[in-house]
Amino acid sequence: MPRVAVVGSGNAGLCAALSAAQQGAEVIVLEAGGEPDVGGNSRYTAGAMRFAYRHRDDVLALVDAQDPRIAACDFGAYPEAEFEADLRRFCGGAKLNPLQRLLVRESRPTLRWLAESGVSFEPIYDRQAVLAEGRYRFWGGLTLAAAGEGEGLVNRERELAEAAGCQLALNAPVAALLDSKGHVRGARTASGAEINADAVVLACGGFEANANLRASQFGAAWRNAKVRGTALNQGAGLTLAQSVGAALAGNFERCHAVCMDTATPDFRDSAMPHIERRRFRRISYPFGIMLNQDGKRFVDEGADFRNYTYAQYGAAVLEQPGAVAWQIFDATGAKLLYDDYLQELATHWQAPRLSELIDQLPGIDRSQAMRTLDAYNASASGEGFDPAIKDGCATSGLNPPKSNWAMPLTEPPFHAFEVTCGITFTYGGLAVDVDGRVLDERGQPLRGLFAAGELVGGMFFDGYPGGSGLTAGAVMGRRSGANAAQVY
Ligand SMILES: Cc1cc2nc3c(=O)[nH]c(=O)nc-3n(C[C@H](O)[C@H](O)[C@H](O)COP(=O)(O)OP(=O)(O)OC[C@H]3O[C@@H](n4cnc5c(N)ncnc54)[C@H](O)[C@@H]3O)c2cc1C
Repeated sequence: MPRVAVVGSGNAGLCAALSAAQQGAEVIVLEAGGEPDVGGNSRYTAGAMRFAYRHRDDVLALVDAQDPRIAACDFGAYPEAEFEADLRRFCGGAKLNPLQRLLVRESRPTLRWLAESGVSFEPIYDRQAVLAEGRYRFWGGLTLAAAGEGEGLVNRERELAEAAGCQLALNAPVAALLDSKGHVRGARTASGAEINADAVVLACGGFEANANLRASQFGAAWRNAKVRGTALNQGAGLTLAQSVGAALAGNFERCHAVCMDTATPDFRDSAMPHIERRRFRRISYPFGIMLNQDGKRFVDEGADFRNYTYAQYGAAVLEQPGAVAWQIFDATGAKLLYDDYLQELATHWQAPRLSELIDQLPGIDRSQAMRTLDAYNASASGEGFDPAIKDGCATSGLNPPKSNWAMPLTEPPFHAFEVTCGITFTYGGLAVDVDGRVLDERGQPLRGLFAAGELVGGMFFDGYPGGSGLTAGAVMGRRSGANAAQVY
């Protein structure tokens, strides 16, 4: 029986473990953390998973079609060509590489595999659909999430992996790979325990939680970025694989980072449940504007659906003076905010007049902020506003423009939310082929070494269509696990 060691118990690692076990392998999953850390970053997610679908039936095949709301859903279609185009726009329009094409092509079969294995999915009614005249109109190519969000996903994947015979070893940070004549034959943990295997799947995340690596790759300001997920993704997978000759791939100059409340606590010390932690995310900016301390706008808040801009705008805020910005909404925009916003933990001000709102914002250039707001309001007609589509309701003559959803901010009360940058995950990683095999500098596979998930380089470059990370982890996890089970 082939023996497979999987490093990391996030979505990618658990998919690799399940897949290897389904191929008849004896599997051990080595997780650096203890019980609360199982699931890694994947546990922190909303469980949203992007996949290509041709029509309603493809979606219905993955959900509980008995749910009475399903009849009222307009899912539209999200064909492979659209998923490809969404990825291409974040690679400067370049042709997709084989890994990205695999992600698109395998997205639906992989969700099918998860569903058939026992994972449940649900439409994302509250965040990806607009309810109008009794119908849910889904938008932005992101339609389903795992039941119970990230927590539900990894708990279920763990149950399935364990039921398939996989063993999970906790508090087992892998510190070295066992290499025998160019064949990776297991791993050694920090305490010196040696786990022999015929193949190893590295699925131990990126380096977003490593302040030194962030600073060296992205610049000193990134040392202070909030870490949105686990503290354990320190880049170990890169060092481990490089020690046996692996090559790096992808974009090490960018990462996925979003707007977060400035009061976001340090999750390393917090006993806060994962679902509560997500309440600090602030990504409803398409329905308002963002001002920096100089009182100026600095991005096109309506450039696209927030699924396609949110991963870039964390970095945009980090680049502003003091790494801070304020999201400003009027009462009309505030009705469209995620309910995360209007909670007691939010760094939030409210006032009956815009000038009184701006007066309260600490350190903002007040006169410039009022000039910016007046200019915005003068250039935003609000005509044709429709949050379910890219409505083309744009400002005229502003730089930067607001290209969609440009409603004037005129309805009191007015709201301001203070935000900074929170890093989600890193894009650069290991060179890996479509079989999940880790490659050396010559592009040759390293025998016995596979990788999946955040650790794979070359999947995402300058940005990210929301919900692709979990799908990418599941696609590569399933594949690398199955292939690792063939090495013996
Ligand atoms: C707040 C938040 C929300 C998100 N929402 C979504 C979403 O809705 N949809 C989506 O697609 N993506 C989302 N993402 C991105 C998503 O989390 C990642 O793309 C995905 O979880 C990566 O999965 P992974 O298995 O590669 O890594 P992880 O889930 O992070 O798992 C890596 C595991 O490896 C372990 N590990 C690290 N080092 C070692 C070592 N040396 N030895 C052993 N184990 C080790 C870690 O402890 C961890 O458990 C979100 C991320 C965050 C932080």
